[in-house]
Amino acid sequence: MTQVVQQKSGEQKKQFKEKIREETIKRLRHKSQEEEASAVAKKFNLPYVDLNLIPVDAETVVAIPEELARQANLAMIYKAGKKSQIAVVDPESYETQKALEKLKKEEGIDWKLVVVSEGSLSKAWENYQRATVVESFESQQISLKSKKLTEFEKGIHNIVELKQRITEVPTTETLNIIIAGAIKTKASDIHLESAADHIRLRYRIDGVLQDIVHFPKKIQKFAISRIKILSKMKLNVDNVPQDGHFAANLENSTINIRVSVLPGSYGENVVMRLLDEKAIALNLGDLGLNQDYLEKVEKALAEPSGMILTTGPTGSGKTTTLYAFLTKVNSPNVKIVTLENPVEYRLEGISQTEVGEDEDSLKFADGLRAIVRQDPDIIMVGEIRDSETAEVAVQAALTGHIVFSTLHTNDAAGAIPRMLHLGVKPSLIAPSINLIIAQRLVRKLCEHCKEEYRPAEETVKKIKNIIDQMPENAKVGIPEKIEVLYRSRGCSKCNFIGYSGRVGIFEIFPMTPAIERLILKTASTSDILETAIQEGMMTIKQDGIVKALNGVTSLEDVRRVAGEIFI
Ligand SMILES: [Zn+2]
Repeated sequence: MTQVVQQKSGEQKKQFKEKIREETIKRLRHKSQEEEASAVAKKFNLPYVDLNLIPVDAETVVAIPEELARQANLAMIYKAGKKSQIAVVDPESYETQKALEKLKKEEGIDWKLVVVSEGSLSKAWENYQRATVVESFESQQISLKSKKLTEFEKGIHNIVELKQRITEVPTTETLNIIIAGAIKTKASDIHLESAADHIRLRYRIDGVLQDIVHFPKKIQKFAISRIKILSKMKLNVDNVPQDGHFAANLENSTINIRVSVLPGSYGENVVMRLLDEKAIALNLGDLGLNQDYLEKVEKALAEPSGMILTTGPTGSGKTTTLYAFLTKVNSPNVKIVTLENPVEYRLEGISQTEVGEDEDSLKFADGLRAIVRQDPDIIMVGEIRDSETAEVAVQAALTGHIVFSTLHTNDAAGAIPRMLHLGVKPSLIAPSINLIIAQRLVRKLCEHCKEEYRPAEETVKKIKNIIDQMPENAKVGIPEKIEVLYRSRGCSKCNFIGYSGRVGIFEIFPMTPAIERLILKTASTSDILETAIQEGMMTIKQDGIVKALNGVTSLEDVRRVAGEIFI
C-alpha cells in the first residue's frame, strides 16, 4: 500500500490527500448527525435506527404519500398488515404529530416510532423516485400489450423482456419503445426532459401533455445520442439548439419524425413531432361543423373567387381545416398551389411550396407573387402576418382566385381589424373576403367509458341561459332535455385519459351587406361580433356547449380551450 502511494506523482499525492480529507469530513458529519439522532432517541426512550445500514423496501415507503412524508419529516420503514414502524427525526414536531394522528385515525395504521437522522430520512425518501419509475412504467405496459405493437416493433416480444431491456440500458430498444408507445397512444409529440436525477418522458395526446415514465438518469446520454445520430445532428455539440428529422419505418408505413434538441440545466431536452399523414382528418364532415356552418362553408367553397380565413391560436386546428377544404375542392381540372411554413403533410395532386424564416429562404410575400404568375385557381397561404403578404393575398382574391389563409386572432370578428391593421384598405376587405372562421379543438369523450351525469340545478340554469341567447337558425342539434351532461372515467381504450381524438368548435360568419357597412365605418370588433350574432352566428363557446350537451365532449374541456363559459 505504502509502495503504491510512493509511486504516485506529486499531483496525484495531492489529489489522494484531498480525497482522504473529504472522506473523513463526510464520515465525521455522518457520525455527528447519527449521534445527534441517537441522543434524541434516548431522550424520548425510543429505538434509534441507522438507515444507512438497514435497507428499506420501496413499497413500504410509498405506503405514505410523498408530500405528506416530506411535510411531516417522516418515513414508513417497516410494514406488516396494519402494523408499521415509522421513522421520525423529531418526535415532538407539530407537523410530525399531526401526520401521525392522521395516519392512525384515517388510515387505521398502527405505528411504532423509531428515531433516525436527516440523512437516513433522505435515504428512505429516495424510494419515491424508484417507485415512480416502476409505477408509471407499469401503466406504459398496458398500452404496449396489443398485437399491433408486436407488428410495429419486432424486437420486443413480451412485457417482461421489454421491462428488462429498459432497465439494462439498451439504447436502440429504449428509443423504439418510446416511439412505438407514442404511435400506439396516437401522440403527436414526444418530450424527453432532463431533470437533476431522472429523465422525464411525456407524450402530447390530443393536444394535452401526459406523463408517461421517469427513466433513470443513465438512459439520458444513450437515448439522446441515438436520437441525434438518427436525425443527423452534431453529436459532440450539446450547448446550442439543433433541428433534424428521421423516419420511423413500420411494417406498412413510414412515420416522419421532426426533432428539436435544446440545451437545459440538466442536459439536453428533446421534442420529437410525429408527422403521421394518415392521422389528419381531411374529410369536411369530420371537422365538427354543424349543419348551418357546413352549408356556409360549402357555399363559400363553390364561389369562383375570394378569400376564406381561419383564425385561432397555434394548435387550434386551423391548418387541418384548410387541408380539408383543399381536399374538398381538389380535382384534376383545377390547379391548386400552397405556400407553407413548413409543409407538414403532402397532399396528392397539389403543388406545395415551403417558405422559411431565415435570410436565404423564400418569404411568404415573394412566394405568393411568384405563385400568382403560375396561373393557379386556388391558393393556400399558410399565414398572413405582414402587410406585403396581406396585400398580395387580397389582390389574388380580387382577381379571380380562391385564397385560403390563416390569421393569428382570437375570434372571427377580430380578423377584420387585423386586416385593416395590416394596411388593407377598408373598401377592399368586403369584396375580397367570403368567409371568416374561428376555431378551437376540444377532445372527444371516449365512447367506451363515457357516462351521463346530472349537473347541479345552477349549472342547468346557466346552460339554459346561454342556449336562449343562441340565434334561431344556429340551434342545430340542441337536445330538448339539458338536464344531462357527460363525463368519462378513463379505460384501457383511451389510455385512461377519458378522451380519444379531437373535434373543432367553431364560429363562422360570411361577408354580408351589414358587415360591409361596419367595415367601411371602421367599426369595433364588438360591433362586428354583435352583428354577426344577429345574423345567425353561434360563438365558439356556444358551439362547445352544444357539443357537450350532445355528449361529444365535456364542459370541462370546452372551458379548457375556450375559457370561462358562464360569464
Ligand atoms: Zn375510455
